[in-house]
Amino acid sequence: MAAQRIDKLLTAMGLCSRREAAAAAKRGAIVIDGAVCRDASQKVDPETARICFCGQTVSYQTHVYLMMHKPLGVLSATEDREQQTVLDLLPAGYKKRGVFPIGRLDKDTSGLLLLTDDGALGHALTSPKHAVDKVYRAQTEGALGDTDVQAFAQGITLRDGTRCRPAKLEICEAREGYAEVLVTVHEGKYHQVRRMLASRGAPVKTLKRLSEGPLKLDAALQPGQWRELTQEEIAQLL
Ligand code: URA
Repeated sequence: MAAQRIDKLLTAMGLCSRREAAAAAKRGAIVIDGAVCRDASQKVDPETARICFCGQTVSYQTHVYLMMHKPLGVLSATEDREQQTVLDLLPAGYKKRGVFPIGRLDKDTSGLLLLTDDGALGHALTSPKHAVDKVYRAQTEGALGDTDVQAFAQGITLRDGTRCRPAKLEICEAREGYAEVLVTVHEGKYHQVRRMLASRGAPVKTLKRLSEGPLKLDAALQPGQWRELTQEEIAQLL
């Protein structure tokens, strides 16, 4: 691919406007191949340059694939008139580019959330045909034990009669009135993990998604932080 001006490239990537790129260059917020770039007209090879923009490593791709550590209290949506959404945690250009969360986590669930502007991939990954294992860590009010592990393995019936597919319940800690567990589900019904645990008399106090298919939440990401997926991670998804 031909070399391109860094300001044009960052704009094409949806990260900022040309004017914002110029301002970022002035304050030293663009680093190319380890060297601070003070001139937004500098040309780079989009395919080989290692670009760091505002402290974040970014790369040129036809589509954007991101991993976020979704914090508590934020909606898995692209916009909301009153409440903060996961798109509000990203540079504004991503919203303009059409980035959206792949699937949802409840407002009160934290953890791994994937985002993309690749509509075909987003659709494929949320289709029931493409169900992958999702692992959650939960803390519950109410103890859980071996009979609950068996009930999960057989397939829980929710309080409204909905049948869930067999799932895995692993008990990490259990004492009177409290349990810390790992739950692995292979489908994505509404409030599924909360409703499964509630049906066993153990309502969820905290819930965090640790992994989705082959992708694990990057332990270096603090709540609210995000990063691009690596080429290997993208290949695992496609
Ligand atoms: N199950 C839930 O109950 N909530 C989530 O956010 C994800 C899975």
